[in-house]
Amino acid sequence: MDDPFLVRLPTGDDLFEAITRVFRERSVRKATFTVIGATSRAVLGYYDQDVKEYRMKAFDVPQEIVACMGNVSEKDGEVFVHAHIVLADEDYACVAGHLMLGTVIFAAELSATPVPGPVPVRVFDETTRLALWSQSS
Ligand code: ZN
Repeated sequence: MDDPFLVRLPTGDDLFEAITRVFRERSVRKATFTVIGATSRAVLGYYDQDVKEYRMKAFDVPQEIVACMGNVSEKDGEVFVHAHIVLADEDYACVAGHLMLGTVIFAAELSATPVPGPVPVRVFDETTRLALWSQSS
C-alpha cells in the first residue's frame, strides 16, 4: 500500500487540475485528501437538485483555503477527483462549494492518504444525474 504523502502544488496552476495530476502521476486511484493554502481566484459550484445541473460562481479576489477535502476514485477508466472547498476573504467571511475548474493556486499544500482495496467506480445515476459510486468499497 502507498504511504500517505504531502505535496506542494505549483503557484499559478489550476487547483483541480493540479490535484488530479498528483494522483494520476502516482497511479493512486483510491484516496482521501485535504488541501490548505490560498487562491488568487476561485470558481465554486452548487448542484441545483431540481434542475440537476451545477450553478457556478467565480470569486475574483485572493482568499484563504480554510479547508478543501475530497476523494479519489475512478470514472471512465481514469483517476477522478471530487473536492469541496471553504474559502475565507480579507474580512474572514467564508464561501464554500464544489471545487470547479478555474480556481487558481496562490499557494497550496496537499495531504493525501491512499486507501487500499477495491477502487470505487463512478457511474451515471439516473435519480441525481450525477456520477456516483456504483457501490461502497
Ligand atoms: Zn461535489
